[in-house]
Amino acid sequence: MLKEILPDIYLIEVPLPGNPLKNLNSYFIRGGERNLLVDTGFNRQECRVALTGALDALGADMGRTDIFLTHMHSDHSGLATGIASPTSKIYISAKDHAWMRQVFSPNGWENLNRSLARLGFSDEEVTENRVTNPLWRYSPPLDTIDAAYTAIEDGFSLSPGLYRLRAIETPGHTPGHMCLYAEEQKLLFCGDHIIFDISPNITSWRNERTQNEQLALYLYMESLKRVRELDVKTALSAHRRAMGECRERIDEILRHHRVRLEEVRGIVKKYPRSTVSGIAARMTWVSRSGWESFPVAQKWFAVGEALAHLEYLAAKGDIVQETEGVQLTFI
Ligand SMILES: [Zn+2]
Repeated sequence: MLKEILPDIYLIEVPLPGNPLKNLNSYFIRGGERNLLVDTGFNRQECRVALTGALDALGADMGRTDIFLTHMHSDHSGLATGIASPTSKIYISAKDHAWMRQVFSPNGWENLNRSLARLGFSDEEVTENRVTNPLWRYSPPLDTIDAAYTAIEDGFSLSPGLYRLRAIETPGHTPGHMCLYAEEQKLLFCGDHIIFDISPNITSWRNERTQNEQLALYLYMESLKRVRELDVKTALSAHRRAMGECRERIDEILRHHRVRLEEVRGIVKKYPRSTVSGIAARMTWVSRSGWESFPVAQKWFAVGEALAHLEYLAAKGDIVQETEGVQLTFI
């Protein structure tokens, strides 16, 4: 689907077959000298056909088009290098550029597998995740990750056509997620920072060097408060329904995480020394089918979300993290 939603801004709905996110909203901004495309889709045929078909229908000249990635996840970054021209710039935050290299490197897999065992996944689930997880299955080509991107910092500005856009770093969903804000039009490209129909997945990316104030959920809630200060008339999200009310949704998401924190704290008190996977299995999920029927990639997102809440509670001193054998547990 292709629609002009604001002057010179087109919404391109890219389908994500079989994925609960359903679609990726890519935005094309027609500019004078340079056009700008915000986010792209998975590196898979169905996405490529939808995106390039829409760009053709718009008469978009990729020789005069740059790409902005709100973050490194494959449903946003997957097609960027494949559709870019030799003169296109692909902008991504320096933090997500570094994170992308780490996650998609061959070592990224090994680290992931180690962490899955720590979180209570079985060997079969680890193997299945390796094959099915869309983050890796449809990732951008590895050989382009170093060279093809232009790493940017908070405050970086871009001026396609009518719009003067400022990149606002909003860490949480990923370490260097960015929104784009046009003050004059009170317009915000939210990426996955704000989604109107589902709550954005906040997962732990902790390593040995992570400080408490750098924990994913803590950063995410701070980033929501930062964006809440902006004067936004039109908020454009990256998944499902494109437009919605920004402040109202931020308040709902903040409330959602406070409720979640209470829920997770209650589960730990009732079932001390459970694995993270065991805790995630007892949390409330929107899907009506039971935990056991979740595809492993969904379990992986859910367990990451459980861990982000557990780490937040542990940093506050509400619960205590322990290690039993190779597994992480909480009391
Ligand atoms: Zn994402």
